[in-house]
Amino acid sequence: MSLLHVDLASTGLNQLSSIEIASIVAPLAAFWLSCCFLEFLAPALPFLDKYRVVSKDRRIFEKNLAPFDDVLWSAFHQQLLQAAIAIVFAVVTHDPLEANRIEDPATLVLKLVGGFVVMSTYQFWAHRYMHHNPWIFRNVHSVHHRILETHAFTAFYEHPLETVVNLLGGAIGCVVFSMTPFTGAIYCTITTVKAVEEHSCYRFPLFSVTPSYLSNAEHHRIHHLSKGIKSNFD
Ligand SMILES: [Zn+2]
Ligand SMILES: [Zn+2]
Repeated sequence: MSLLHVDLASTGLNQLSSIEIASIVAPLAAFWLSCCFLEFLAPALPFLDKYRVVSKDRRIFEKNLAPFDDVLWSAFHQQLLQAAIAIVFAVVTHDPLEANRIEDPATLVLKLVGGFVVMSTYQFWAHRYMHHNPWIFRNVHSVHHRILETHAFTAFYEHPLETVVNLLGGAIGCVVFSMTPFTGAIYCTITTVKAVEEHSCYRFPLFSVTPSYLSNAEHHRIHHLSKGIKSNFD
């Protein structure tokens, strides 16, 4: 046996069901698909122009302290970290009786709504704390604020510690509401798309009806402009 041989049984990876694997892969795929749609396809669709909240002139992004290729590279690293944490979470919480179970629609929707409330509240206060603790802002959250003009790919341009803090919010929602891997996959995919939309150049009607603390692209853009950095924590 090669020294490099990895015994999957000892890692617990071999026991994961296809739904559990999908719960790891779906949010990652949703990130790249939603970013590519909002950045490259949406600007070419005139009927979406009424939802756009910033100019199509890409020169506005030149003020960012992180150039576009840095943002892409950072997103790639963030996704690797997210995948690693998601795999550990799936292995640790694996339950053979729940792995392939699909909850009834009413329970599923209730759990999703509860999860969104928990995660949004957690993220609001965690984000606010990152601005009020000078050390954390300087060493962690300031990385995300190298972005002065947001676009979809900047959603996860952040310090790795901030990635861990954000993923903890998602994990809390899954655990508090005992989500099955199937429900968890939907929950994490929607929260990923929401984070991308929040940093994109579009504000869609679905997000216009949410309470202000759940944020949207218009609110969050103000937060990234220097005038919003000490307030407007949406
Ligand atoms: Zn901030
Ligand atoms: Zn942001």
